Amino acid sequence: MAMRYRTLGKTGLNVSIIGFGAAPLGGVYGPFSESESTQTVHQAIDKGINLFDTSPYYGIKLGEEVLGRALKGVRDKVILATKCGRITKTDFNFKADFIVKSMEESLKRLQTDHVDIFQAHDIEFEPDLDMVFTETYEALQKLKKQGKCRFIGMTGYPLGCLKKALESCSLDVCISYCHCTLLDQSMLSELVPVAERRGTGIMNASPLAMGMLTLNPPEWHPAPVDVKEAAMKAAQFCKARGSDLSLLAMQWVLQQEKVATTFVGMSRLKELEINLKGLESSPDPVLLAEVNKILAPVQGRCWPSGLWAAEA
Ligand code: NAD
Repeated sequence: MAMRYRTLGKTGLNVSIIGFGAAPLGGVYGPFSESESTQTVHQAIDKGINLFDTSPYYGIKLGEEVLGRALKGVRDKVILATKCGRITKTDFNFKADFIVKSMEESLKRLQTDHVDIFQAHDIEFEPDLDMVFTETYEALQKLKKQGKCRFIGMTGYPLGCLKKALESCSLDVCISYCHCTLLDQSMLSELVPVAERRGTGIMNASPLAMGMLTLNPPEWHPAPVDVKEAAMKAAQFCKARGSDLSLLAMQWVLQQEKVATTFVGMSRLKELEINLKGLESSPDPVLLAEVNKILAPVQGRCWPSGLWAAEA
């Protein structure tokens, strides 16, 4: 089925409703093949995916290098997004001089002279948010003026922190993740109204709840144990019915008209094929009801991130 496109906030960008999440190209979800990832990137472009997201944090620079090599010769066909400020799991630097340096290094790894979208990555880890909303924000604006990027934004997990960012700065875009899935839909009621009022385009990420809505969730997943257990029960239930929870999760998210785009992480051709299948049909209502029944006790449950509590 043909790719569908929606407008991203006030950017004027017409983005594919499936975005390519490139965290798996940094090995975030375990070993991957660079050759298959490259084929997956090319196939995704052929199928109409025009938005790609990466970060220096994914595989500590590896993810950008792999994506940069894969996009050689096709860079101009895509809207390319990367980030700054998150260095490792525990190291962050949102100071202006670092942001400027980070941009230059990302451009080299991505083999391009500009990125389309540049965002401060996981700002909830910074104790001094006022600094992020002044110094970091000004650095991002300056890079935009210089043409190093076309649009700027901030990303993070706690919706309270993202709302603060949207209210404090004029952001073109933001990334919210794991809050618009079969497990948690709070982004739709909490963040969408603020983003619409402020003119910020939300890029939704992690429709599979960072692998929880698959049969192979990563060991490092930060969700509480009972949430992970319920997700696994739902995945096995779908499998036993000859169905696929990941496909159901994609079908559900792609139906959300308020969501311009959703980044799903993929490095394999098979994953791309299934995720594109999500465009073809709506979720089976009977299966969706059964899955919702299994997930109901844990739906809406969050986890702490950075300096923010789970309920923030
Ligand atoms: P996700 O929910 O997209 O899940 C990715 C996992 O699911 C990977 O293990 C992948 O191999 C697997 N998968 C993908 N399609 C599948 C399918 N059809 N069947 C079975 N398994 C499948 O989580 P994500 O990758 O973390 O999120 C998507 C993207 O969003 C990231 O790659 C990244 O680009 C972006 N993101 C950004 C932030 C941020 O800015 N703070 C946070 C999270 C995600």
